[in-house]
Amino acid sequence: MRICIVGGGLGGLTAALALLQQGFKVTVYEQAKELKELGAGVQLGPNAVGVLYRLGLETQMQEIATDTQGKKVRLWNTGQSWPLFDLGRLSVAMYGFPYLTVHRADLQRVLAQKIQTLDPNCIVLNSKVLCIEQTQEMVKIKIDGQEAIECDLLIGADGVHSVIRKALFGHDEARQSGIMAWRGVIDCKNLPPHMHEMVATNWVGPGAHVVQYPLRRGELMNFVGAIEGNRWEIESWSEQGTTEECLGDFKGWHEDIHTLIKAIHTPYKWVLKVRDPMPSWTKGSITLLGDACHPMLPFLAQGAGMALEDAYILARALKKYKHSLPLALGRYEHARIERTSRVVDGSNANAKRFHNPALADATGASEYVSKEWSEERVKERYEWLFRYNVEEVEI
Ligand SMILES: Cc1cc2nc3c(=O)[nH]c(=O)nc-3n(C[C@H](O)[C@H](O)[C@H](O)COP(=O)(O)OP(=O)(O)OC[C@H]3O[C@@H](n4cnc5c(N)ncnc54)[C@H](O)[C@@H]3O)c2cc1C
Repeated sequence: MRICIVGGGLGGLTAALALLQQGFKVTVYEQAKELKELGAGVQLGPNAVGVLYRLGLETQMQEIATDTQGKKVRLWNTGQSWPLFDLGRLSVAMYGFPYLTVHRADLQRVLAQKIQTLDPNCIVLNSKVLCIEQTQEMVKIKIDGQEAIECDLLIGADGVHSVIRKALFGHDEARQSGIMAWRGVIDCKNLPPHMHEMVATNWVGPGAHVVQYPLRRGELMNFVGAIEGNRWEIESWSEQGTTEECLGDFKGWHEDIHTLIKAIHTPYKWVLKVRDPMPSWTKGSITLLGDACHPMLPFLAQGAGMALEDAYILARALKKYKHSLPLALGRYEHARIERTSRVVDGSNANAKRFHNPALADATGASEYVSKEWSEERVKERYEWLFRYNVEEVEI
């Protein structure tokens, strides 16, 4: 079977690796001229780390990731703090795998290196897919400036603006979430010593929140600041903003937040859009994975995790049902739709929780945080996510 993947992001590369390990021949077409993720971190819950470890990347992950010692919630103005959950020891003890934070570029590099040991020609860069055509016998892919390519299975892993999804299902109905976000990476050398803590922090406030966590064993700090508003239009990884604009959005917030913002090398901004979960994402010999089929708000920190899980389960389904592609794709989709839809909905719900008006003053906030982030509520929200086992789930 000739398998092509469109998109060499975290989902596409994980799918390529999982498929190569299952003995398939696969080619990834990526539009970028080089594999260079825009600087930003990604949090990987034990469910996502489990996928990478099962693909033989445990040593590499330990080299590039930060095993944060815990996660806390802090209040936007006073800085009061509450424990959220223990990411380190407890994660391994409870779920079998750690909760790690990693620079996206590092993860993309280790995935690509592992793929290249199995097939040095698997990843084809500088290949922007323009359109596709499907017949009974095969799928034809038209790549900018190249001859058309034919394959038996096409996997669209081309992210939130997926060309493949549009070709199969038409334009999506994206709605403004009413939330914009800032992202940036900070060199920890530019932060005072009390801000070098190896913990992840969710700062919560009325109408906004900030997530910060260390990367590269504490060399860098990742910053994501989400605020309510509709000033921007562009949903993009590469739209730059200014420090002044970002500071203005967090006026009145704790001085640690201002210190972080001033230390961001380049602040990037983008608008967050909401899309309803898709009822189906396969047509004939074409299927989708990751943000191409279930883009979500980043408020459960699970978008990449879902792409990784999709990739692993898809490879398992193709191996198990290799006599029947429709069956394999049907089983893959069946195994994934309910869970990913639940994560999309849960991420939307967290937006309301993080920005609740009750957080405006310290007394109301204390009561609200103690209730919403009680051990029991946190368990309810995360337990089912973290416990998922890609090897055991029925397909
Ligand atoms: C601010 C923010 C913070 C986040 N934090 C987290 C987090 O902490 N944890 C987490 O799990 N998730 C997080 N996410 C979500 C996560 O980044 C995405 O869900 C994940 O990157 C999806 O992976 P993907 O491979 O599906 O798509 P992408 O990473 O978008 O990759 C798509 C790839 O396809 C390529 N491509 C696109 N079109 C074409 C084409 N026509 N031809 C060829 N190639 C093409 C692109 O160049 C890209 O390389 C966050 C997202 C945001 C916005």
